[in-house]
Amino acid sequence: MSDILYRFIPVDCENIVQPDHQAAIGRLSFEGRELEATCLDRIEFADAGSGFEDVCCPFCGESLLGWWQEAMDAAYSAEAGFGSLKAALPCCGKDGSLDSLDYRMPQGFYRSMIEAFNLEDEGHDPHEVLDALEGVTGFPWRLIRAYY
Ligand SMILES: [Zn+2]
Repeated sequence: MSDILYRFIPVDCENIVQPDHQAAIGRLSFEGRELEATCLDRIEFADAGSGFEDVCCPFCGESLLGWWQEAMDAAYSAEAGFGSLKAALPCCGKDGSLDSLDYRMPQGFYRSMIEAFNLEDEGHDPHEVLDALEGVTGFPWRLIRAYY
């Protein structure tokens, strides 16, 4: 059986967890499960592990997998993380963003992330975590299920 890592990231990758949020997140207890946010000074990408399937154009639906890998490499540096996520899409020529492509399994960019293994196996609803995080921080979060 594979493990599922639940990754919670802000919908807007520029949103970061503030120190007073950290304390409130630490007090969110899901039957003894402690949640803690990782915060970075750069933007990184949270993938879906082996759940990664494809990445497609949100406008015309064409698969962009080959182009996407090159665009991700071009936008990334090991020291600074991701720079601009804007990109002209090669399929239909529309202006897009690496953050708004159609990732068949949810994935995304982040500066703050909270991770927890196997929440659903233990009877926790990850959408309750999403709601609780939005309540604490005041901005919306998204859920990524990473399979290992
Ligand atoms: Zn397109």
